[in-house]
Amino acid sequence: MSDRKPSTIAVRTGIESDTQHHAVVPPIYLSTNYGFPAFGEVPNYDYTRSGNPNRGLLEQALSELESGEGAVITNCGTSALNLWVSTFLGPDDLIVAPHDCYGGTFRLFNTRANKGDFKVNFVDQVDEAALDQALAQKPKLILLETPSNPLVRVVDIEKICQKAKAIGAMVAVDNTFLTPIYQKPLELGADFVIHSTTKFINGHSDVIGGVIIAKSAQDAEELAWWGNCIGATGTPFDSYMTLRGLRTLGARMRVHEESSLEILKFLTTQSLVKTIYHPSLPEHPGHEIAKKQQSGFGSMLSFEFAGSFDQLKYFVGELSLFSLAESLGGVESLICHPASMTHRAMGEEALAKAGVSQQLLRLSVGLEDAQDLIADLQQAFAKTHRYQG
Ligand SMILES: *Cc1c(COP(=O)(O)O)cnc(C)c1O
Repeated sequence: MSDRKPSTIAVRTGIESDTQHHAVVPPIYLSTNYGFPAFGEVPNYDYTRSGNPNRGLLEQALSELESGEGAVITNCGTSALNLWVSTFLGPDDLIVAPHDCYGGTFRLFNTRANKGDFKVNFVDQVDEAALDQALAQKPKLILLETPSNPLVRVVDIEKICQKAKAIGAMVAVDNTFLTPIYQKPLELGADFVIHSTTKFINGHSDVIGGVIIAKSAQDAEELAWWGNCIGATGTPFDSYMTLRGLRTLGARMRVHEESSLEILKFLTTQSLVKTIYHPSLPEHPGHEIAKKQQSGFGSMLSFEFAGSFDQLKYFVGELSLFSLAESLGGVESLICHPASMTHRAMGEEALAKAGVSQQLLRLSVGLEDAQDLIADLQQAFAKTHRYQG
């Protein structure tokens, strides 16, 4: 059934697959090892680092959702990125990555490049001339993160993949912000999709996990070999939980987006809000590309706070339905100050280069009632106007 829609794939994968007791929901297999049916007869699963039924089902679901040929579930999103570069890069190989990528990705590539494991070039991928210049250095791998974190900048996946093909480079897209519900990078020409499943895929802020999905079966096999070799794979319990969270992905993504569009409308009326970053806004530089390559705008948004820095801190403290916390994509709404939280590892210079200012706030709009969320923002803005700190 290859024409199933995403929500159907997410709900149905593994349902009624238990041949022993006919459990409707696939049971969890915590065993670390599996018996050999006979001497020299290798079973489907032998040892959990290399394979496990729960991880296998989650890999199957995510691979089908992203139209891939195979996937490796890793113990976090960062280890999926690390698995990718460990598999394909040697000391002389270059990877091109966005200058405003997720802070942990920046730290990983930067630190490993400084050790001489590979070479990295962080570029502003929205700037076509800068990107072309980087591609002229013949990278082996190109990472795209679109929409990016935290400024939700959008790049043209199809166009960059064509340029990559021409120089023999492979492209991975970090699809954490949109999920396959709203964006399918492999269908736009990418070779790999990476997720921090910690975020929308699991969706309940209670599992750290990651995945890399490959367009070709051969690349998927190579990633699985390396995943086992370096010990990057996810646990059975985490895989079970993540598949449980994944089942509601379609419904969740719809409400996340609906509510964020209402909040966006409200924010545009607020004098303490300066620039708002979201691809749905016609003035957003990536608006047209987003309309072309995404089937939804997604729910992650950020904005420049127009008041003083003291007022910003006060405003954040007065919110009761937006928790001041890192991460994103869970059922609960969050507010984050990237410069001092998710992106602090980048250091001041890299932050400035990436355009992440001290005034920037990022919202992860959860599944609470949208009117309650707006009322909460409204009372915090009202108090902040009166605050003299
Ligand atoms: C969180 C995140 C990661 C890292 O994933 P972890 O699960 O925290 O290791 C990578 N990319 C993006 C876009 C993220 O938001």
